[in-house]
Amino acid sequence: MMFTLPALPYELNALEPFISARTMEFHYQKHHQTYIDNLNKLITGTRFATLPLEEIITETADEPEYEAIFNNAAQAWNHSFFWNSMSPTGGKIENSSLEDRIIRDFGSFENFRAEFKQAAVSQFGSGWAWLVEKTNGKLAVMKTTNADTPLAHGLKPLTTCDVWEHAYYLDYQNRRAEFVEVFMNNLMVILAD
Ligand code: MN
Repeated sequence: MMFTLPALPYELNALEPFISARTMEFHYQKHHQTYIDNLNKLITGTRFATLPLEEIITETADEPEYEAIFNNAAQAWNHSFFWNSMSPTGGKIENSSLEDRIIRDFGSFENFRAEFKQAAVSQFGSGWAWLVEKTNGKLAVMKTTNADTPLAHGLKPLTTCDVWEHAYYLDYQNRRAEFVEVFMNNLMVILAD
């Protein structure tokens, strides 16, 4: 199976002024495309070539021999999920059952926001901040390093913020905390059922 760059759920400039079209040109058209191209090269002729992306991720996680495949597969998946974790009309909770679950597991929406921001800002170097659903149904905030993804840990991602510098450097330079605030206030979509 050859993977292709999935279509964005909005135009390249749809997230302006919060994320510029120029950032999206590099981040989606260059970085995301490169993960997919590298993955296709790495799996050609291997037993992974016929597997869906999610299975490639779980089968290569924690296998040093397959580190490059894991990194590119996870980054391909993480970026698709990130594009869907944002919307020009994001930043609010429109689903009352989701709101109830956030209050149940974090105490308040503000507590959730504070915990998510802390995870995103404190991730040293490249990585991701996530809201996940654990196998017991509870919601939790986590951060992952480099390409690591909750899928590799049996957790269901509900939203993510990319905190690799390439996600924000053109628009926010070194101001990651400002980027994370803008993400949560204006763009974030929580993909709960
Ligand atoms: Mn990225």
